[in-house]
Amino acid sequence: MSTSHLPRDKKDRSVRARKHDLYKAKGKLLEPSVCRECNAVYHKGRWTWAPVPAKSHALVCPACERIRDGAPSGVLLLTGEFVASHRDEILGLARNEEARVKAEHPLARIIKIEDQPEGVVITTTDPHLARRIGEALHHAHHGTFTCRYEENEDLLRANWQS
Ligand SMILES: [Zn+2]
Repeated sequence: MSTSHLPRDKKDRSVRARKHDLYKAKGKLLEPSVCRECNAVYHKGRWTWAPVPAKSHALVCPACERIRDGAPSGVLLLTGEFVASHRDEILGLARNEEARVKAEHPLARIIKIEDQPEGVVITTTDPHLARRIGEALHHAHHGTFTCRYEENEDLLRANWQS
């Protein structure tokens, strides 16, 4: 009965997978390089916030590309009454955690924060950031935190409920 859903579902996933390969392929970069959008520097095989080296190549970093494309690799859903009644406080904590993680890992950013019928949805450029924010909320306010990695989608889906 539900077989009609299958082909479309599979197609969506393969599109996501191909997009992901695209972001990965762009990981082979000239060095040093600097992102013309956010000034992150790629040098010695990693991204940093170091001062821009002389004669850097200009490019757009994978995080800025994901933000531009609206293509998250982490999705954190915040649900529950506590979330609804403490929205600003919770999102402040989420932003603080982003700042902390981003200071060390320039490609870890929040793409956007959206109010959806089921709760607040935070999408991130990096799967670890979605998890780190969920863990920080869990640590601060308890509740229930779950996450799973959807390998075929290259997407970490996390949920914090409180
Ligand atoms: Zn950038």
